[in-house]
Amino acid sequence: MIHNNQESKDRVRYRTTNIDYYIKKSKRIKTSELIVDSDRIEVRTPLNKTIEDTRDIVRDKAEWILKKQHQFKSLIPQVMKPTFEENSTLPYLGKNYPLIVNMNQSRNTHTFTDGHFIVDISSPRMEEDARSLIKLVYEEWIIRVAYPILKTKVETYSQKLGVHVQKILIKRNLKSRWASLTKKGSINFNMHLIKAPQDVIDYIVLHEVCHLKVKGHSHRYWELVYRHMPNYQDKINWLSDNGRMLVND
Ligand SMILES: [Zn+2]
Repeated sequence: MIHNNQESKDRVRYRTTNIDYYIKKSKRIKTSELIVDSDRIEVRTPLNKTIEDTRDIVRDKAEWILKKQHQFKSLIPQVMKPTFEENSTLPYLGKNYPLIVNMNQSRNTHTFTDGHFIVDISSPRMEEDARSLIKLVYEEWIIRVAYPILKTKVETYSQKLGVHVQKILIKRNLKSRWASLTKKGSINFNMHLIKAPQDVIDYIVLHEVCHLKVKGHSHRYWELVYRHMPNYQDKINWLSDNGRMLVND
């Protein structure tokens, strides 16, 4: 039996990104064709084409492929784990935003304007270095922006509850917790929390501020949370569904 349809997998390297794609050979195909979907790249070619021919097709169209995939990604509303690659996205306040990377810059900087992240990085030696530089610059930015956002929320809820929070601290490493109240009445926040939507961050703030009035998770405690946020269970559900997307491995 002769197979007219043959499918195989291949990979092409373009700048810092690997492009994985499928090759579909068929004798019915007369001219090569490139199809880019949200989760699949496919090159359909006649039987006589070689692997190098298909690689050339992907390489020639690499810029367009990445742009297309970028568009697909920005349409997905939920928070996604960042890969820190060029043409990927970075999460912030419940949404992933497109990332633009400028290599070989004199300084490492991170800006967020008009729904885009722009990261300037100095020349990295390898792809791995570029990614860890992007990650470093992004996480420093996260810590910087987290403070004013959390401070405002803490002030709002502590006024409502008539309590006083000593100080707030943004922590890089808070294990599997989003926040914790110290014995001295300060709140430690997990920096990754700033990737969650505003209303989820509100819940975490309220949760800790309520502990200044009631220790432990008694019925009385949850009643207090409920009084200030009747739909708090939705936020707990959001965190159990999406929480793993917020933290690094
Ligand atoms: Zn608690």
